[in-house]
Amino acid sequence: MARKIGSRYTAHQVLGRGSAGTVWLGDGPEGPVAIKLLREDLASDQELVGRFVQERTALLSLAHPRVVGVRDLVVDGNDLALVMDLVRGTDLRTRLERERRLAPEAAVAIAADVADGLTAAHSAGIVHRDVKPENVLLDMQGPLGPGGAHPALLTDFGIARLVDAPSRTRATKIIGTPDYLAPEIVEGLPPRASVDIYALATVLYELLAGFTPFGGGHPGAILRRHVTETVAPLPGISDELWQLLLQCLAKSPASRLRAAEMAGRLRELLPDLAGIPPLDVDEPGTESEEPDPAYDEPSYRPPAAPGSPRRGAVPLVHGSAPDSNRETHTSMRVPSADELAGGARGTARVPRSPGERRPGSARHRSTSEAVRRRRIKLGAAAVAVVVAASVGGWLAVSGDEADAKPGVERTDSAPPAP
Ligand code: ADP
Repeated sequence: MARKIGSRYTAHQVLGRGSAGTVWLGDGPEGPVAIKLLREDLASDQELVGRFVQERTALLSLAHPRVVGVRDLVVDGNDLALVMDLVRGTDLRTRLERERRLAPEAAVAIAADVADGLTAAHSAGIVHRDVKPENVLLDMQGPLGPGGAHPALLTDFGIARLVDAPSRTRATKIIGTPDYLAPEIVEGLPPRASVDIYALATVLYELLAGFTPFGGGHPGAILRRHVTETVAPLPGISDELWQLLLQCLAKSPASRLRAAEMAGRLRELLPDLAGIPPLDVDEPGTESEEPDPAYDEPSYRPPAAPGSPRRGAVPLVHGSAPDSNRETHTSMRVPSADELAGGARGTARVPRSPGERRPGSARHRSTSEAVRRRRIKLGAAAVAVVVAASVGGWLAVSGDEADAKPGVERTDSAPPAP
């Protein structure tokens, strides 16, 4: 059923639903478009609408072949819609779910495309802040690249920040999707371009492994792992690719590559990756069910949710239910120092109950016992430092950081971006 959006656009059919709204196939004066209609509760939030309107220029000005262009913003009655370039294809999450793991060549080619998009954004002073497979679209009508990968385009610039800005709620919030959040965001530092590099490296790891390096369980536990744990090596990965991943997943933002460097280095690796099959990584849940003695800490046992299988969820906010919804942005209050340290016990650990496992999803890590032990030791040391250095620093991300300024303007008649 056709639906008018403002005076210039018509939405015809739903292409997909996301966390912020529904995306429609539509058309406008210049032909077919994708129209993201924001959820009603968001569209009726005057403050949010104002923010979109205020930041129109930046949102509309970002034009690059690896970025899904925003052509227009429509504020019409109860509708708030972003009119975007139509990408005929699918999103990277859908491909990943279908294939579970990608061949290294295809994974690296996709990551290089996204890094190109980030290069353009970062040089325009825009930080994406929500790089994840859901926000990467694959253009199935584009030419096949290395490893048979279709061109990848980054979408949803700035949406996370606009929709999740702390001022919308009184609660202090951390903006982003837990699996892909850089440690400095968890610690309350303003998000710079390097947070996108960390998130993209996490995506690349996920494309190769079938799961993210720090995902699984309660969002609070995931956030803590970003700060305290080291990434588990992937068996069979080339040394050069692994070194690049490690550098981009560095805890220290300054140690990470810049987007242009990352794109360049990834492309240099492509010839050597040709023809290599997907990595043979242990499936989630194939680890021994024997408890790891390193986790056998009698003083702490995260409560299992009634009726649910025991899992490695470590509630950061006591009393909150374990939740492993990767698609939901974090929506949690700032934890107290005591909670950060592991509760009243005050142990600087990332404890997990014996035999507990990350959820049996594709994000469930599978690592050798040796790696896990090493990680626990490093984690314990790191968390001690972090707790000492940053207790009380779990602040909301403020909306005024210098390098995160996407935007839109109230109109239903403004001309499309050039
Ligand atoms: P999310 O909130 O999960 O990032 P979106 O709301 O951005 O999801 O998009 C939902 C779905 O709509 C996507 O999975 C994709 O299939 C489709 N979609 C989004 N943007 C476009 C676009 N510009 N062109 C074509 N399809 C799109």
